[in-house]
Amino acid sequence: MFGREYRLRCCGCGALFDDDGVRLDCALPHAPALLRTVYPSLRLDPGDERSMARYGRWLPRGRALATTARTAVFPSAYLGRQLGLRRLWIAFNGWWPERGATLATATFKELEAVAVFGRLAPGERRTLVVASAGNTAAAFAAIATENELPVLIVIPLDAWDPLAALVRVGPSVRVVAIEDGTYEDAMALARTFAAREGYIAEGGFRNVARRDGMGTIVLGAVETIGALPDVYVQAVGSGAGALAAHEAALRLISDGRFGTRLPRLVLGQNAPFTPIHDAWTRGAAILEEPDHDAPERLSRIAATVLGNPSPPYAASGGVRDALAASGGSTYAITNDEMAAAMLAFAELEGIDVEPAAGIAIATLARAAREGCVDPDEIVLLNITGGGRARRRPVTQPQAPAHVVRRADLGRTADLVGTI
Ligand SMILES: [Zn+2]
Repeated sequence: MFGREYRLRCCGCGALFDDDGVRLDCALPHAPALLRTVYPSLRLDPGDERSMARYGRWLPRGRALATTARTAVFPSAYLGRQLGLRRLWIAFNGWWPERGATLATATFKELEAVAVFGRLAPGERRTLVVASAGNTAAAFAAIATENELPVLIVIPLDAWDPLAALVRVGPSVRVVAIEDGTYEDAMALARTFAAREGYIAEGGFRNVARRDGMGTIVLGAVETIGALPDVYVQAVGSGAGALAAHEAALRLISDGRFGTRLPRLVLGQNAPFTPIHDAWTRGAAILEEPDHDAPERLSRIAATVLGNPSPPYAASGGVRDALAASGGSTYAITNDEMAAAMLAFAELEGIDVEPAAGIAIATLARAAREGCVDPDEIVLLNITGGGRARRRPVTQPQAPAHVVRRADLGRTADLVGTI
């Protein structure tokens, strides 16, 4: 058992809180603001583990949780040469054990799931409620199954088949699937569940464990490279991964051994659904409300996991602050550019990647072509998912615990009572 030595600090008002393992927001009334962890150690001080647990001193640990989850960081073999970048490093999050990447559900969401379950108090009995459009559900289902921890996962029914092919869903995991449902429907139904006695909201990007779990990608990269990257490239939906990288970089700067400059965040979204890119390029102070065309544009993006209509853009400690502080930039990438980038990566580096990673690769290609990245700068490209083709599919028949119809979501109180 661990004592919690870290605290939570509100990015809005600076208030400090002891962590109970599940706090998502500041207790004081003000405009939206994220919480961040504050650790007693200012030094990157890795343990002996090879997994992400190596960075446990900068993870919000509430209880011991065994894990083998690990990101691989290596210099690009051929992609960098193709793009004219001499110091391109790849952080590969997925299944590629020959290179050292051991995320069994093939995306970086597994780092988040491990950290979120590890943050819970040892005596926590409540069931965590998670909403997901796919990869997050697979990651939480796998880690909860492995550790026999209770979780209720709400997904659109479309997301079930890929999840069931990837994960053997154990008895501690209940999946509620919404027929014809969207990610937003899943989030709304999850909120209803989380309000019930015995359940607790996982919280997505508001959960500090999510961001610190993903932050281990940058910690691993800096340990391997020996310095902070000049540029950090990732595809974003909520932007939580970029915030995680930014927050990890702030910690590494306070360490003092790895550089003093924040990596420039170079972020890609999938056109034509690009709320963060639109707000940033317009210089908007807030994210505009989704317009009536938004669902149609959302339906046209191939990297569906990036389709988050309400990212923490304008919140204190959010994406706008991080882009501004780091001198960052954003790009809108088409489905065709994404597909070409996925093919190119498979040919050049030798492994399949997820569509969102294709967006990141195409983003880097565009930034390099436009001269936004200098050929001698250290660039860290976050491949957020890959190697799925190498996973042996689960063949045993599985079904969601409950399938609900979208038309029935109006009477959620009855619905939730029956589940
Ligand atoms: Zn506050």
